[in-house]
Amino acid sequence: MKKNMIIMGPPGAGKGTQAKKIIASYHIPHISTGDMFREAIAEGTPLGLLAKQYINAGNLVPDDVTIGLVKERLSKDDCANGYLLDGFPRTIPQAEALEKLTKEIGREISIVISIDTPKEELIRRITGRLVCKKCGAPFHKENRRPLKEGVCDLCGGELVQRPDDNKEALEVRLAHYEQETKPLLDFYHKLGLLHTLDGMKGVDALMIDIDKLLEA
Ligand code: AMP
Repeated sequence: MKKNMIIMGPPGAGKGTQAKKIIASYHIPHISTGDMFREAIAEGTPLGLLAKQYINAGNLVPDDVTIGLVKERLSKDDCANGYLLDGFPRTIPQAEALEKLTKEIGREISIVISIDTPKEELIRRITGRLVCKKCGAPFHKENRRPLKEGVCDLCGGELVQRPDDNKEALEVRLAHYEQETKPLLDFYHKLGLLHTLDGMKGVDALMIDIDKLLEA
């Protein structure tokens, strides 16, 4: 059973949604660097203040900050029986640092799943995306509307648009993905860890593919 995982893909590919399904099935911690930064921003910590300026403009938070954060998190006891990294690594230096640190702590990556989704679909998903402020559940202005406008169906929390889910910031995020993150596909392909799945399939169909890969 492969339980030390990375889920990759451009913004809007469905990483977060799929990650929630995976952690529910496999009972492993979900390590999303984006979520960690958003929590730090909400709490107004020094990390949050630093991260906010990069995130809201669609830029990447500097590698040293992000790598330090992940190093600390992956070393915790709850990652001993597996973990799911979502949104990390996003650059080659991050991937190299991750190789080194997972070897040091004996928690090497066993599989990398990349979700491939066409650009027009990413733009449609991101610009219409709403998320619950309280539980993080995703909705969409057109094709996954909440029962009551502005209110989360699951927990009653307020639905908001992420400050970086606008067209300008999205263009910057997509450009970072193309230039800095896409080369990681080759990096993990060479390590024999990469599996690419079709992001247009739908969450449940994708989960069937993922189950097969993890259990292979
Ligand atoms: P996400 O929720 O994964 O889309 O991440 C939101 C934002 O957080 C990104 O656009 C970046 O500004 C920042 N971020 C998240 N993960 C990383 C990372 N691994 N390296 C640098 N910046 C990151």
